[in-house]
Amino acid sequence: MKLAERLARLGTETAFAVSAEANAWAAQGNRVFPFHLGDLNLKTPANVVEAAFRAIERGKTGYCPNGGIPELREALAADVNAARGTAYTADSVSIQPGGKPTIGKLILALVDPGDEVLYPNPGFPIYESQIEFHDGRALPYGFQEGDTNFQLDLDAIRESLTPRTKLLIYNDLQNPTAAESSDEEREEIAELARRHDLVVLSDEAYFDIRFGGRSRSIASLPGMQERTVILYTFSKKYAMTGWRLGGAVGPRQIIDMITRMNVNDESCTTHFVQWAGVEALTGDQSGAKEILQTLGQRRDLAVDLLNSIPGVRCFKPNASFYLYPNVTDVLQRKGMDYETFRRAVLHRTGVSFCTRAHFGRPLPGETQKYLRLAYSGIGKADIEEALKRLERFVQE
Ligand code: PLP
Repeated sequence: MKLAERLARLGTETAFAVSAEANAWAAQGNRVFPFHLGDLNLKTPANVVEAAFRAIERGKTGYCPNGGIPELREALAADVNAARGTAYTADSVSIQPGGKPTIGKLILALVDPGDEVLYPNPGFPIYESQIEFHDGRALPYGFQEGDTNFQLDLDAIRESLTPRTKLLIYNDLQNPTAAESSDEEREEIAELARRHDLVVLSDEAYFDIRFGGRSRSIASLPGMQERTVILYTFSKKYAMTGWRLGGAVGPRQIIDMITRMNVNDESCTTHFVQWAGVEALTGDQSGAKEILQTLGQRRDLAVDLLNSIPGVRCFKPNASFYLYPNVTDVLQRKGMDYETFRRAVLHRTGVSFCTRAHFGRPLPGETQKYLRLAYSGIGKADIEEALKRLERFVQE
């Protein structure tokens, strides 16, 4: 059998492969401390779960409008506007089975063969995969260590812009670095988008996972609502990763085409799950607050413990649930590359994580080495035990 040539350009999300490896190790009777996947070991708020059951009982089990039920489109537009200061309407929303589908569908709607797309690297690996799968040219921009957090490389964005650049993928509150733009930096990116007539995919998966200060969206800046598509997801804020519920929010012309792709792909997002989404947005928020509080405590503990390991340096980010410690000295001392180190730590200590290598092809000139630890799926007692084991391994 000869499969289509385009499949050679389809990438994957390698965190799932690390997860499978860790699960296989656990299935052999080993203890595993999971820091590899951005999933949560916390429950979806009870009122949201009950809303789904009620919707099933009320017969919300058939097809529904391709772009989402009007109640959810309205609630999501209102929620996005309240948190971001934008003025979207229900027509600006296309409900999707998760946040991820917005990436590929937007690229399909916008990018012709040879068009260029700027994207963060290290970054969510699906960007690179979807750009190349759909015949775009993927142009990465990187990150540098600043004083208190990572900063994206604005010069790399400026230098990569050409008349063929169509789309800029921007993931403020970033996975994996947890980088966050300053107001000035966000304004400068918006200015570049306006000047070069770019569409911006603003991946706001972690907009609401914030422990201090306030999240801001590039969509709220002058002239940006009409050229920004927000990737919204219920996955992280409401611990709903497996429910598959999210949305694309943006200009009508693009949103209507994304909805037409829904007609072609999944017809609609699961009907009763959408009613759970209405409850998540409009009902009692105490469940989401508790989730955030738990994540904040885990962050504090994990950052302190990582920084107490000799040779490890870790920022304390205000948002997302990822840590991206610099381990250059440790790897050098051990004489190990990323994969040797990751596997040795898993097999010797049970601690499982991703490395920089899981977030895109390394950029020329990169010298520093990083791990990515997600603390969303592991409790405080296990964080403590895991990072003590990691310290012992590093000290050996
Ligand atoms: N964007 C980023 C940056 C992510 O980290 C993730 C998931 O980890 C997604 C999008 C996709 O989220 P969802 O599970 O809602 O598809």
